Amino acid sequence: MDQKLIQGALTYGRRFVRYGKTASYIPELASKNPSKLGVAVCDLEGNILTAGDSEEKFTMQSISKLIALILALEQNSYDDVFCKVGLEPTGDSFSSTVRLDHLTNNKPFNPMINAGAIAVTSTIRGASLEERKTVCINFARKLLGSSKLDVDYEVFLSEARTGFKNRAIIYLMRSNGIIEGNCEEHLELYFMLCSLACTCRDLAVFAATLANNGVNPITGETVIPLRTVKLVRSLMVTCGMYDYSGEFAATVGMPSKSGVGGGIISCPIGKCGIAVYGPSLDEKGNSTGGLKMLEYLSENMELNMF
Ligand code: GLN
Repeated sequence: MDQKLIQGALTYGRRFVRYGKTASYIPELASKNPSKLGVAVCDLEGNILTAGDSEEKFTMQSISKLIALILALEQNSYDDVFCKVGLEPTGDSFSSTVRLDHLTNNKPFNPMINAGAIAVTSTIRGASLEERKTVCINFARKLLGSSKLDVDYEVFLSEARTGFKNRAIIYLMRSNGIIEGNCEEHLELYFMLCSLACTCRDLAVFAATLANNGVNPITGETVIPLRTVKLVRSLMVTCGMYDYSGEFAATVGMPSKSGVGGGIISCPIGKCGIAVYGPSLDEKGNSTGGLKMLEYLSENMELNMF
């Protein structure tokens, strides 16, 4: 790894920050500074290089869909999870409802869109909502190897108050028999996962763990079973970048997951973990500067898996 390269990615990414804007549908995210930009790369020996605003905290948003899925698969059988959600990309935006009300099959298409992640979250177990929240936070801390990881309550409340589309999605799935139990509690857990606050450095370690077949490169501990890692990485390739996943695979070629908080993680298999942050988003919800930094790193570090 080369610090000059990481710095080069940042300089390149900065040129594109002005072409986007912060997520406006979650009021607390709308007020973030759109010019922030950071990057962290963790190699498989656990060495981390950073540039820019890599210590800035931001909320994971859809990146947490990976954590929800990994936890759900730890607590439930494969069939218990995948009777509620499919494994196919949609080509639609992440909060779309158009494919949720079919005559034959109402399952959300995959765990990386809101509907699918909400269905996955509904399978996360615990005796009470409070216990389920604690289980999720502790699990996220273990996966990211960061004991300080916590919820950004401003963002959580902001989304909980305004998440009407997600409410529509969960009640539609409830009426179609996909969701069981208390919808408001499942939603609260989903919003809490989206509001987990982290830094590029934290996420780079998580990404490197995925690239390293589930073994945290810093502690040497296996935190994700290999079967789950393979499934998660495949979903990152086909569905991780919303309705830009196909073009991203074709041009950048790394398993990746994006969030509307401005973060994106990439886990080129057997190579390294990358996390970028820039809250200025394009019209599909991907960080403008973040995308360009990934493009730059893929090209210059030869990380394209295809
Ligand atoms: N919390 C956001 C939502 O549910 C996450 C979406 C995203 O990051 N794409 O709408």
